[in-house]
Amino acid sequence: MNVHEHQAKEILGRHGVALLKGAVALSVAEAVEGARRLGGTLWVVKAQIHAGGRGKGGGVKLARSLAEVETHAKAILGMTLITHQTGPQGRVVKRLFVEEGCEIARELYLGAVIDRDSGRVALMASTEGGVEIEKVAAETPEKIVTVRIDPAAGFQPFHGRRLAYGLGLSGAQAGAASKLISGVYGALVQEDASLVEVNPLVVTKTGGLLALDAKINFDDNALYRHPEIAALRDLNEEDPAETAAAEASLSYIKLDGNIGCMVNGAGLAMATMDIIKLNGGEPANFLDVGGGATKERVTTAFKIILSDANVRGILVNIFGGIMRCDVIAEGVVAAARELGLTRPLVVRLEGTNVALGKEIMARSGLPIVAADDLGDAARKIVAAIGRAA
Ligand code: GDP
Ligand code: MG
Repeated sequence: MNVHEHQAKEILGRHGVALLKGAVALSVAEAVEGARRLGGTLWVVKAQIHAGGRGKGGGVKLARSLAEVETHAKAILGMTLITHQTGPQGRVVKRLFVEEGCEIARELYLGAVIDRDSGRVALMASTEGGVEIEKVAAETPEKIVTVRIDPAAGFQPFHGRRLAYGLGLSGAQAGAASKLISGVYGALVQEDASLVEVNPLVVTKTGGLLALDAKINFDDNALYRHPEIAALRDLNEEDPAETAAAEASLSYIKLDGNIGCMVNGAGLAMATMDIIKLNGGEPANFLDVGGGATKERVTTAFKIILSDANVRGILVNIFGGIMRCDVIAEGVVAAARELGLTRPLVVRLEGTNVALGKEIMARSGLPIVAADDLGDAARKIVAAIGRAA
């Protein structure tokens, strides 16, 4: 799960990470009032969406007066912000964070992730902050200093010093960096995060060290231990179809293709997507209805697939082991009737009660195309959407 920058900062602040003061605003008036209360002569108005690259997309603006705060808040609130992380459709900005501004001397990078290869938390620091770290990793990997933390011993002062020296800091600044890095490590471990990123970590012109941006990804499997973090979930930032699927206990991930897939079992779903691609098609989604799908769940799954306007045809691929093929067939027929299905539908059923399942579909009078095996099914759906085009 992701949270907004201002929420990530609040959490990091509790772990001792140095920050500027800020105020959340859901309206232009709140933004101006927030800035007035912060005081000072420099503010930053920041779009709050669950994606990075906001600065380049016009979602982060410096203001030197309250009138400028108002102008920027008006421009950013409600805008569709497109960044390299939002995809071409962008995200509508529904909240702002107004922060005290600072004069930046250097922009650095600090990140903490779970490194699966070593089974440890890896802390990464780079002098090349503010820009996409992926680019630094690809082009100048020597500019990233990585330290892996032994979980038994935990974070030690020498880890902090090694990273701080890697950032070109010394003296009191290295000490401040070490404290900040220790806070980032503590937040990752104690809050069960899988990633904490501070980009940029800045050195100000007055010599201070601050986290200017913050991003945290939480491990969904550990959210039950952190109800206060689970409560930060912002459904505005999540795909509505994925939210509906999660509520119905369906595993659904939207993709960019045009063939909707309904499959039972994650492995079979992956194989189905592969074989669609092998036949020249593109899957519109991954959807695992699970082992014990009922007629209602099949109907819900159908609705979710059809809510994607890109879907031009559907492939149902079910292996009835625990699940009976006649139950699936009834669900498919009921959903197709209820939703007035107009897009081509190919169904491949195999397993328990398969003959009965096929009979239910054949007798339904609906234009359902039956397939004998997975290859046959993929060829038929790719051909059907080709004809419909
Ligand atoms: P991102 O583009 O979504 O990663 O958003 P950031 O929070 O990283 O902000 C983008 C850029 O805005 C930063 O890299 C800074 O260059 C700039 N910025 C943000 N806050 C301040 C500030 O207080 N003062 C100045 N001068 N620049 C800022
Ligand atoms: Mg950033």
